[in-house]
Amino acid sequence: MNKEEEKMSSLDKCPKCDNKELKKGIVNSSFGVVHMFPIENQRSQSSPISSMYCAKCGYILEWYVDNPE
Ligand SMILES: [Zn+2]
Repeated sequence: MNKEEEKMSSLDKCPKCDNKELKKGIVNSSFGVVHMFPIENQRSQSSPISSMYCAKCGYILEWYVDNPE
């Protein structure tokens, strides 16, 4: 387990509706996964973007670039 996954597991409930069922999602467009590129080097390796969201109200709690470096 890497650092990012440890950070995600520190979330325990939705701040909007107090629902405790949170899901991890991958941000997707109709053409595929949306990727983040560093703006100073947009030809470098991109990273998928994932998020944690509430399974009840759909509120997105956090966004993560999976490979920030
Ligand atoms: Zn919620």
